[in-house]
Amino acid sequence: MTFPNWKQTIAVLSFCAVFALAALWALADADVSTRQFTLNSPYDFGEYQHKVQLHTHTTNSDGDHAGEWVMQAYEELGYAAVAITDHDYTRFSATLEDPGGHNIIFIPGVEYSGNDRERSWNHLLGINISTIHHADGTGARQAQIDQAAREGGLTYLCHPYSENVHRRGWNEEDVLELVSGYTGIEIHNGGSYHEPGGRDYPYKVDLALMSGIRVWVISVDDFHRNPETALHRGCVVINSNRDGRSLRREDVVAALASGNYFAAGRLDTAHPEPPRFTNITVDGHTITVKTDKETDIEFITSRANYYLEGANHVQKTEGVTTAQYTATHEDGFVRIKASYTEGGSTSYAWSNPIFIED
Ligand SMILES: [Zn+2]
Repeated sequence: MTFPNWKQTIAVLSFCAVFALAALWALADADVSTRQFTLNSPYDFGEYQHKVQLHTHTTNSDGDHAGEWVMQAYEELGYAAVAITDHDYTRFSATLEDPGGHNIIFIPGVEYSGNDRERSWNHLLGINISTIHHADGTGARQAQIDQAAREGGLTYLCHPYSENVHRRGWNEEDVLELVSGYTGIEIHNGGSYHEPGGRDYPYKVDLALMSGIRVWVISVDDFHRNPETALHRGCVVINSNRDGRSLRREDVVAALASGNYFAAGRLDTAHPEPPRFTNITVDGHTITVKTDKETDIEFITSRANYYLEGANHVQKTEGVTTAQYTATHEDGFVRIKASYTEGGSTSYAWSNPIFIED
């Protein structure tokens, strides 16, 4: 048996010391600036994009046009799918039946609205459901969310203004506590994007996201009447590897459920056609966004958003078709807004959130 000499011993000890220091350094660094995290993105842009309308009314509730007419109108506008979401007021006759007479995908739906007993006025969209679950009073909305979930349906909080503005809206505590397990929130609803004289709808989205509630965002027409000014103000655009001919209802629902789509909207049909996200990719901690025309691209996170400050962002790049943002652990989530301005009017695209995960 041989023992190492003193030179060898010092060499081994030095090596150990350097290794230990390096390990300590790595640990300290991890605590401060390079905390391990990943970005969980819902995006997988395929070869095709399809416009989908998720909120419409017909003569089966308080709309002026029959279901067949509504479906044909959206078909002419190039939509791939439409959900008819009549009110469930007992005096109306909301139905899940396909009105027929169209060549686009019909998605059965309802706008839950109850009557004016207790707190059952909050409006809730149920999409891809097979039964209308009539319920009133406390707990009605939660029961409807749960029923939809059991049937593979999706649910969205409609026009999230506060109750002091209109009782059909959603207060901050409603978003956080009245209901849970809903799919998303309307970030834009036809001609409405603000509480009258108040804040923009995205503040309720950011409130939910900052509170750890995972929501997707949708933009909708909430079409009732006056097609020339009310059709195609808000829609969602799903990403797909299927073309319009092979697209099925289940593909649309899958894209909606997984968040592989974006919301697009404008307050007036005289405003320009909204921009499109043509790709959103993640490489490490860096998000790269591409748009189909020159837009102002904003990144909105837990650090700067509509709930904290009112229409704020952590980064804004103006007049571009691509932008990059490198996320930090403190961002919590990142959502992207693209604004397109032409002739003094602006239209928008809103991404779904990308989540920062440990
Ligand atoms: Zn509605």
